[in-house]
Amino acid sequence: MRPSTRPKVILRHCDSYDPERIRRIVRDGMAELGLRPRGRTLLKPNLVASGPLFEHAFTRPEFTEGVLMALRDRDEGQMTELRVGERCGITVPSRFAFEGAGYPAMLDRVGVKPCYFEEEQQVEIRYDHPERLRDYVFTPEAVALTDFFVNCPKFKAHPWTTVTFSIKAYIGIQDDRHRLIDHDHRLNEKIADLQHIVQPELICIDAITAGEGRMLTPIPRDLNLIVIGNNQVAFDSVCCAIIGVDPKTVDHIRITSERGFGSMDLDSIEISGDVTLDEARKRAEGFKVGLIRVEKYFEGTHITAYAGPPPEPEHTQYCWGGCPGAIEEAIEILRLYDAECDQKMPRMHVVFGAYDGPIDARPGEKVVFIGDCATFDGEVAGKPVQIRSKYRDRALKDPHVAKHDDIYVKMAKVTRKLASASEDQVVRFEGCPVSVAEQALALVRLGGLKNPYLSADNALAFTKNYLMWRSTAMAKRLTGTPYQRPGVSARGEARPELAAGEPAE
Ligand code: SF4
Repeated sequence: MRPSTRPKVILRHCDSYDPERIRRIVRDGMAELGLRPRGRTLLKPNLVASGPLFEHAFTRPEFTEGVLMALRDRDEGQMTELRVGERCGITVPSRFAFEGAGYPAMLDRVGVKPCYFEEEQQVEIRYDHPERLRDYVFTPEAVALTDFFVNCPKFKAHPWTTVTFSIKAYIGIQDDRHRLIDHDHRLNEKIADLQHIVQPELICIDAITAGEGRMLTPIPRDLNLIVIGNNQVAFDSVCCAIIGVDPKTVDHIRITSERGFGSMDLDSIEISGDVTLDEARKRAEGFKVGLIRVEKYFEGTHITAYAGPPPEPEHTQYCWGGCPGAIEEAIEILRLYDAECDQKMPRMHVVFGAYDGPIDARPGEKVVFIGDCATFDGEVAGKPVQIRSKYRDRALKDPHVAKHDDIYVKMAKVTRKLASASEDQVVRFEGCPVSVAEQALALVRLGGLKNPYLSADNALAFTKNYLMWRSTAMAKRLTGTPYQRPGVSARGEARPELAAGEPAE
């Protein structure tokens, strides 16, 4: 639903993860915004990754607990359901992310059920806005049918999209097979498209300890802030102002604003609370956003990166939303699991997009072309190499038949590919995008590194949650749940007609 009320953003001081304190702050904020939950209420935290190695990547459970209690406090009997739902990082079971973040005990305490989006029935949403990348997408039933959506992201930098505040967190409202579609050089438009599914009525960001520089492995930065708002564009614009970034330079915020979802102009936003914007800015002085091209990112390491433009160069000269950013996140993960990651990595070269410059590889150094859109016509170590594009136009990708490759399938594929090419200097990985997981697995094999998916600390819990995910999905298929659900219009209004649904993965 497009926002109708005047956007308001409240900045509150909070220097501890005390659920009772957070509850009071959010309850006061809801009262100031005149908000009361109603109907099916769904809270979405950011649980992209969790556990001790990713401790600053996710919305802390104490924060979510405070918001859940505030929602209960503000309920006047209109709320029929209260759930917490999320799809965490691709290939990882959301159950695993919830567990690693300490959510099950907290949810039990508050009496709220979790909702793992990839285990839900997926509902088709038809878009009708003129700028859409496609005519329909899928989202979990819980999202499609929510009456009162609460977005509780983590205040973080993002290496592909500058920041991940409220609008960007919408990437978590799709399961893997649908999330990966258009997760490429048009990612910012995909994020803006997702805004047409539903808009949050309440946004509360965990900026008590924010995350600088990166998205999965951010550097903790105490801002001691809770920011509360009722409009995503206004909210993200104020968050940008806190870290000294012009929201007009952040494409997913600018495009969402241009679609009519809210103003980026601070003069049109009412800002209140016990922390002024100037004070918040002082706390965030020098905040690093981490937006960095892949060539620069790998400077000084054993990896040399080369990037040419993705398809549709009229839109952008660099694929910010796909393969190049994924390899940056992949190496950050591997560094966490293997302290000698950079030293162990042999000299190698990674190439993205339509690259037409020299590749400075000596004989024996691997050259890895990553992504369907990679092209090259030149020499590698004195031998001619021709790489042709395998990129398929997005119009040929049908969300109805999108398939999911789980981590074990990806592991087998990567192992097979590198084993069969062990004598070859040039290797090509196909996909659009080639995901963080696939690139991490490839680097594991090429560098002889520790495999994070098989780490002793993780393996048991990961496998248990993986099996629960797959068996739940299988049970839903076998019980023949009817794949028809009430449709929802692109602007979130209930539609009388039925739209086709899809079972869980
Ligand atoms: S193949 Fe990779 S680099 Fe090329 S457009 Fe797709 S996501 Fe971007």
